[in-house]
Amino acid sequence: MPLSRRDFLATTAVALGAGAIGLPTIATAWQQAEGRAPQAPPQWTPVFTDIRRGVGYFLGRGGTIGYLVDPNGVVAVDSQFPDSAPVFVAGLKERTKDRPVDRLFNTHHHGDHSGGNNAFRGVAKRVVAHERAAALIKEAAVRPNAAEQLVPDATFTDVWREEIGGDWVRAKHYGRAHTGGDAVITFERANVAHMGDLMFNRRVPVIDRVNGAVVANWVKVLELTVADHSTDTIYIFGHAGGTHPVTGSSKELLYFRDYLTALLDHTRGAVKAGQTKEQFTVTKPILTGFEDFGPHAANTLGIVWDEIVLGA
Ligand SMILES: [Zn+2]
Repeated sequence: MPLSRRDFLATTAVALGAGAIGLPTIATAWQQAEGRAPQAPPQWTPVFTDIRRGVGYFLGRGGTIGYLVDPNGVVAVDSQFPDSAPVFVAGLKERTKDRPVDRLFNTHHHGDHSGGNNAFRGVAKRVVAHERAAALIKEAAVRPNAAEQLVPDATFTDVWREEIGGDWVRAKHYGRAHTGGDAVITFERANVAHMGDLMFNRRVPVIDRVNGAVVANWVKVLELTVADHSTDTIYIFGHAGGTHPVTGSSKELLYFRDYLTALLDHTRGAVKAGQTKEQFTVTKPILTGFEDFGPHAANTLGIVWDEIVLGA
């Protein structure tokens, strides 16, 4: 029997309600419903993890989602992809007893953080993002063949701050880093900060130079973020490598800062030594002291090379 999209979502919600989430089964059913042959099940399992004072994080497919669930207010930070976002929203509704989401924040424009926004249509009262991130999400939404998208309807340049539920929520742009429009979303009372893709924990980062990334400035942004928070702030990371955790302390932020500094130094060394970009980008280096990050692909090396040789 073919499943409608509504049935598919209902099945997902039931699975969540039962506490056992049969994602691979559901995905297979969905593929069959679309007339496609069943494929290998997706390698992801949705998990909600509470941190403190109603703030927690959700792992599915894509960038880590953050949330605040309070009797008087609900916030989501990022939306992953169109297939995982409805799973998050269904799980969130159970936790909030169908209370609307007061705010959806997008930490930046990338599709693994904002691609699922449309699942918040009729659910989130407002969608907030840095002005550059909002512009890029809107740009992607009007491309030919773009899927239906819910775009930010509120933007900020430097900082957005408001009281929601039992907490003060702050979205702050510390400067160009992973993109030109990154924001850190801080739950002040819970003392938890969502870093978006300003944090890749022990994983080679994506550097979106075309859309405003600057690695040298990323180093400063991490330092400003640590200075702006306290020693016991818990940070949520957009991504982590291997089995490394997606939450941590300022130690991880400063370790990542040191890694970025080492990557810049390594590249500057190659430029100084007279290597060409073509010679450098095929070297697949592993940086001493940062072995967890693994080898570097040509694309990453080329971007850092361009920043050093051509400027930001
Ligand atoms: Zn990103």
